[in-house]
Amino acid sequence: MNVSFRYFLLLLVVGYLTASSCSSQLKKDYVSSVAPVLPADLPAEYATTRGSSPCGDRMNYVPDPEFLDHTPEKIIWVNIHYMLSEKKKNNFDETDGYKFAHQFIYHCNQYLKKNLKMKLPLGNNTPQLPLRYSYAIAKDYSTADDHAIYFHRDDELYHFNGTRSRDRNFGSRKVFEKYGKKKGEVLNVFLMEPHLDSLKSSTFQVTGRGVAFGDWLKLTAVYQNTRDTTFTAEGKTLIYGRYAQQRTFNHEVGHCVGMAHSWRKNDGCDDTPPHPNCWGITDQPPCNVKAISNNMMDYIPVAQSVTPCQIGTAHWTMSNKKRKVRGCLKKTWCKFNKDKTIEIKQDHEWNGAKDIEGHLVVMDGATLTLRCRLSLPKLAKIIVYPKGKLILDGATLENDCGEEWEGIEVWSYGADRGEVVYFNSPTINNAKNKVTLL
Ligand SMILES: [Zn+2]
Repeated sequence: MNVSFRYFLLLLVVGYLTASSCSSQLKKDYVSSVAPVLPADLPAEYATTRGSSPCGDRMNYVPDPEFLDHTPEKIIWVNIHYMLSEKKKNNFDETDGYKFAHQFIYHCNQYLKKNLKMKLPLGNNTPQLPLRYSYAIAKDYSTADDHAIYFHRDDELYHFNGTRSRDRNFGSRKVFEKYGKKKGEVLNVFLMEPHLDSLKSSTFQVTGRGVAFGDWLKLTAVYQNTRDTTFTAEGKTLIYGRYAQQRTFNHEVGHCVGMAHSWRKNDGCDDTPPHPNCWGITDQPPCNVKAISNNMMDYIPVAQSVTPCQIGTAHWTMSNKKRKVRGCLKKTWCKFNKDKTIEIKQDHEWNGAKDIEGHLVVMDGATLTLRCRLSLPKLAKIIVYPKGKLILDGATLENDCGEEWEGIEVWSYGADRGEVVYFNSPTINNAKNKVTLL
């Protein structure tokens, strides 16, 4: 290599370095302080009065079908308890109960996945949204199956007597008090059965029923209904049982996540019209109707439709730290998952509480307004791109796992710098890189 060519190369390198130091570079800084928006600068539509929070409105928890990742899927842990007679096989036992429990929960989840179109009101356009929640049997390595599936032989407590029984016990808490496990952390499900004496009676009708208590529930006659088809006293086929009981399970968990009976006027949802709650169409009023309901919260043969408002109710309940069922959720929001990063590419307003699992990125040209509680896992941060904007409108940022999330990182490029502003007194808790509100 001759000297002049070497000099040329040197010039080339120096020239490149000079050029790159002149150009803009992306800078990333954690925000240590955030300035308020002055009242005069607030958009007119923003309410600044106290008590106007949208976070208690269940409709703000309805999953947006275009942005499903904004409603992270919730998983409810369940324990399965079979209540057995001491004398006779009246329920699934150790030989068939483990397998059945897995099948049962699998099919309950399948029914949740296949949210049917609402039959009522006639001609409705109610959207079929994904429910964004499911069940998982809790782990317990002390059982033969490594799952929380238990068998209790107890002649006092195995049976469930319904509302019409002289010895009705459907409201009794005894079975939970005696056999409940990981109370408050897992939804305890008791699979009870009719009294053996009742089954001996020719007039006794096996009916699938259930009752929910917030973080535990009882079902009856799963075994009886699953073994064979249920018949009416006249010998007519009533319903094939397996389906009946998964319907009842989903209905009872529906109560645990805050849903009310949909045929009633006051269930809090406008998309579940009141109706006479007919099991089938008859020629006599009130069931001489054109269609019977198929909503999960009715007493009907096919209960597999859940409306947007009902789904919103479920997520509103599961996001509420005061509700028992929240304690039974898998803490998916406590484990950082980069693949669950949410990218905000257009303007969004989050008017409901959320528990997210990855970073939250406000990209160029987008504004994200946070108004409610937002939990971020350890290692997660909120990133605001150079042309992005984050508005904290009375929001609460936190880590709901007793740990710290990273903080708010603002990116800048040339004259552009991501913007973070606040009003309505937000709260920023558990941020590793502390943020002071000026
Ligand atoms: Zn009910």
